[in-house]
Amino acid sequence: MPSSKGYGTSDAKSPLSPINFSRREPGKTEIAMETLFCGVCHSDLHMTRNEWGNAVYPMVPGHEIVGRVTAVGSAAKKFKPGQIAAVGVIVDSCRHCPPCNRGEEQYCEEGVTLTYASKDRVDGSITMGGYSNNYVVDERFAHTVPDGLDLAGVAPLLCAGITTYSPLRHWKAGPGKKVGIVGLGGLGHMALKFAHAFGAQAVQFTTSPKKKNDALRLGANEVVLSTDADAIKAHARSFDFIIDAVSAPHSLDPYTELLKQDATMALVGLPDKPPTINAGNLIFKRAALSGSIIGGMPETQQMLDYCGEKKITADVEVIPIQKINEAFERLLQQDVKYRFVIDMSSLK
Ligand code: NAP
Ligand code: ZN
Repeated sequence: MPSSKGYGTSDAKSPLSPINFSRREPGKTEIAMETLFCGVCHSDLHMTRNEWGNAVYPMVPGHEIVGRVTAVGSAAKKFKPGQIAAVGVIVDSCRHCPPCNRGEEQYCEEGVTLTYASKDRVDGSITMGGYSNNYVVDERFAHTVPDGLDLAGVAPLLCAGITTYSPLRHWKAGPGKKVGIVGLGGLGHMALKFAHAFGAQAVQFTTSPKKKNDALRLGANEVVLSTDADAIKAHARSFDFIIDAVSAPHSLDPYTELLKQDATMALVGLPDKPPTINAGNLIFKRAALSGSIIGGMPETQQMLDYCGEKKITADVEVIPIQKINEAFERLLQQDVKYRFVIDMSSLK
């Protein structure tokens, strides 16, 4: 597969524009795929604009990829040409440290290889993401997609889905548990769908009054406007778990106040500036503030299979790739219901 094309940028200030590059032919255990859909994660915006300070250019973003397999290496067993495959945020890891051996590659002690803007462990090149016409990946880091799901709605499961599924499972969201979700964006709306599907009592916190009806439709038992201090306080000391999926700096203190004794708040949103924390909210309740990143390969497959069983996909607005810069701006205006997904057939 000599040549690839996509949308990317050469610096933090320029809009994304067409870019050509090359990928290697698939190695023994690798597959090549033609990209069908790619979700637009807020991380793509943080990364292309170097908001986390770790950008590498030229950069082609995109880590919520659904595609069709076009070629498989001689030792690849999981896929055949023509089959649908999905790739998320991680495309390699050391494969021998304790977390990798446990299938928790996201916590690889030697560091994961990200789908884009990361040094490729095989050929030393910089990985280029899914806003492009094809991808080459080891089959260990590609997933099968259950039949019967809308493929555009599947793409966001590869990041927004697993990033919320994993902590909700880890902290045992389920019947009898009260779970709070802060921020109703791409990640937040998946957290809400999963919390509801797992049988937890789900409370959505949002800064956007116009999202209230959607939150109820997506499974919230209650919606609280995060600008209403009294409405928030009414939930004091009542939550078993809170997941924070907000992309911009904001105070965590109103939410840590809502934790029960020994309960946990997990951050998945990663704004460009660190939060300040009222330690008293944790100390006086032995409460925990934690974090979580995406999920390992076995759990990602488990999540996809669960979504197949329960018919869960993301709520998406499908866009042509030519609208990507507009989509980034709309993301910043909180104007997306609830994930943009690029139809890669628009890439000519
Ligand atoms: P998104 O679709 O833009 O959603 C972010 C939501 O945050 C918005 O919809 C909004 O919800 C809320 N928000 C935005 N600005 C706010 C502000 N100033 N104050 C309070 N709330 C605000 O973003 P996303 O794709 O879901 O990503 C969310 C964050 O998670 C990003 O930082 C991203 O990089 C990070 N992320 C982390 C992981 C991980 O593994 N941990 C994986 C993927 C993404 P309301 O309108 O409801 O208030
Ligand atoms: Zn993402």
